[in-house]
Amino acid sequence: MSAPDRAGLLGPALGYVGGRWTAADDGRTFPVTDPATGQILAEVPRMGARETVRAIQAANAAAPGWRALSSDERGQLLRTWAALLIDNRDQLARLLVREQGKPLPEAAQEVTYAASFLDWFAEEGRRAYGDVIPAGLPGTRMTAVREPVGVGACITPWNFPIAMITRKAAPALAAGCPIVLKPAEQTPLCALAVCALSERAGIPAGVFNVVVGDAEDAPAVGLELTTRPEVRKLSFTGSTTVGSLLMRQAADTIKSVSLELGGNAPFIVFDDADLDVAISAAMAAKFRNAGQTCVSANRFLVADSVYDDFLAALAEHTAALAVGNGLDPGTDVGPLIDQAAIRKIERHIADAVHRGAKVVTGGEPHRLGGTFFQPTVLADCPPNAEICCEETFGPVAAVTRFNDEDEAVRHANKTPYGLAAYFFTRDTRRVWRVSEALETGIVAVNTGAFSSPVAPFGGVKQSGLGREGGREGIGDWMETKYVCHGGI
Ligand code: ADP
Repeated sequence: MSAPDRAGLLGPALGYVGGRWTAADDGRTFPVTDPATGQILAEVPRMGARETVRAIQAANAAAPGWRALSSDERGQLLRTWAALLIDNRDQLARLLVREQGKPLPEAAQEVTYAASFLDWFAEEGRRAYGDVIPAGLPGTRMTAVREPVGVGACITPWNFPIAMITRKAAPALAAGCPIVLKPAEQTPLCALAVCALSERAGIPAGVFNVVVGDAEDAPAVGLELTTRPEVRKLSFTGSTTVGSLLMRQAADTIKSVSLELGGNAPFIVFDDADLDVAISAAMAAKFRNAGQTCVSANRFLVADSVYDDFLAALAEHTAALAVGNGLDPGTDVGPLIDQAAIRKIERHIADAVHRGAKVVTGGEPHRLGGTFFQPTVLADCPPNAEICCEETFGPVAAVTRFNDEDEAVRHANKTPYGLAAYFFTRDTRRVWRVSEALETGIVAVNTGAFSSPVAPFGGVKQSGLGREGGREGIGDWMETKYVCHGGI
């Protein structure tokens, strides 16, 4: 059995440029490994600058034909692609677990979520209305039409290796923009599986291109994607450091830029919260995907009067989580993506303890070894601990006490990030006050789950620019053209 068969790929383990499955020019490859076992799943091409330029040229060549299709024709192709994702959900979910590590039910949910973006934007493409403007000059008629921005470059991370792709590809393609995708080096196989289904769906050659490569190839690929004039838009999800580098690189050619970057989500439990609701939300918001999401609760801020009860319940639920291979039934928390992730949470725990925090449960690498780590709760974390200031991206809950609403909001906003915030209260006036005071793009009130293709997802401050999903999502892939008709 060849390596790709073992991994359960739906197509070749090759890049995809201009409708052809392609190796690297120099034939080089790199291994993709299963984070749970260390097993090599497949060898994937190490593509670089030259292959990227060809992918950009292919996208550019496909652009006139793609934008000339009606929104219905594009929408039909996207719906077919979505249906293929659902038809192949089991195989895709298993591949996702092998490559990324999350538990199988979460992987299956991700596939459904990924398909939902294709469905949603297939419809939104039909509603990309322009305006007829009451004329502001004599003898004229004024209209504004919305046009595709042009060729797009999409760079995606490993934590949602299927959904992050369709969340970008769906609005781009619905708007009439061909794209070149560079998936994360940890998870190219999921991207290639999604790509194989795009081909089966009949997406025309050149409209969806995938350039794969190892970590060392990313800067060269990224440089072409951000500096070539044919590329009119960059859509990136990943770290703030890389996002700001790419934004700088994109500046010379004045590209449109959408960035989904790091977060540092506060999770505030007020004294009047329903603690059962808060605990079940906390478990989802902290431990989904082993805490490796940009909207994972990063800082638990808990009112003094409910602090002990909340902490005890959080610790009890956390200690009961089953850690294991994502393919094993009953696994709640899979492995972390790599050793660097383990080193980061170990550093965060050591720093917090050094500053006076207490380990209530967990705190150590898991006996399974590798990149498995015990789900952890830290009590009494000082707000200046590293874990409260940086995104921890792991299964570690840092809990801090507060005395009043002002203090909670002040702590919550004391970060350069502003992606998501969660808070729990039964007071409707407080819901409005705190929602308005939080400096984030997303506020979750009395819930730990909010992601949906119908809602705008994105951050403020150093968490990013632009919105994915919702009505806004397709707007980020369109330009407004004002047409003034004179002599009337
Ligand atoms: P993470 O910490 O989640 O791995 P990164 O920002 O490092 O976040 O990676 C997100 C994506 O950005 C990945 O696809 C990665 O390969 C890519 N990437 C990293 N560095 C660069 C770069 N210099 N140019 C282009 N892409 C890059």
